Amino acid sequence: MSHDDRAGPDAGAASSTPAPLLEIDNVTLQYKTSEHLVTATRQVSFKVYPSDRYILLGPSGCGKSTLLKAIGGYMAPVHGSIRLKGQTVTQPGPDRMMVFQEFDQLLPWKTVRQNVEFALHASGRLKGQEAAERAAYYIEKVGLAGFIDSYPHTLSGGMKQRVSIARGMAMEPDVLLMDEPFAALDALTRRKMQDELLRLWDDTRFTVLFVTHSIEEAIRIGNRILLLSPHPGQVKAELNSVPAGEMGTASQAQLETRINDMLFAH
Ligand code: ADP
Ligand code: MG
Repeated sequence: MSHDDRAGPDAGAASSTPAPLLEIDNVTLQYKTSEHLVTATRQVSFKVYPSDRYILLGPSGCGKSTLLKAIGGYMAPVHGSIRLKGQTVTQPGPDRMMVFQEFDQLLPWKTVRQNVEFALHASGRLKGQEAAERAAYYIEKVGLAGFIDSYPHTLSGGMKQRVSIARGMAMEPDVLLMDEPFAALDALTRRKMQDELLRLWDDTRFTVLFVTHSIEEAIRIGNRILLLSPHPGQVKAELNSVPAGEMGTASQAQLETRINDMLFAH
């Protein structure tokens, strides 16, 4: 890759490619149990740029969650490297917030507001009035202003996921890591949450790395899609999704067919 050594961080911002936010370079991830060595992903490489909606798409068991765990800093690659803003990831940090599929990510004895504030307090990000204001801001953004003092058990699955998203976003991480966050929702709610996530993105242009095994969801949510082969996950292709305006048109259908063919081709 060519590189202009004269260009400083601010030089030629309009013409040069921005630096990648996240670089996954030749990453192999393994689990060692007492009897087995399981290779979850093999030599996976990709780059995520600021404001990307980057999708990891592949069949169950191909190592998507494992990749997110490694990017989150919860496990180390046996080969290759993971860099965030040029720094090798070695441990979890508030610069990478995770949203999972399960609805029980919230502390049941804390209200919506307290759940979001707690993350800010515990990480040392913000405290007092500042934390309260930040929490309220993001709770409003996910449409839960009317439920700010409610306890999790009084909320639907979709609402709980919104709280988890608000909590992640309130930390204003460099990248939001989402592991099939809508997979356990009913079809209608899922669709609604996808649209809401896109609206939120329109508002704040956060960077998100989103895992799914749904081709439709990948095309709807993402701007870039990394296609992983079945276990152990290897990169099959990296694709551009279709622009929002082309959802429901022939180009969406064509991309779906193309991805389908690639996933099931041997
Ligand atoms: P995905 O999220 O794409 O469904 P995972 O990352 O969960 O896939 O799993 C990838 C592979 O690693 C699978 O073969 C799975 O069985 C294995 N695996 C996941 N977690 C563990 C673990 N804690 N110990 C051993 N093997 C694991
Ligand atoms: Mg998974």
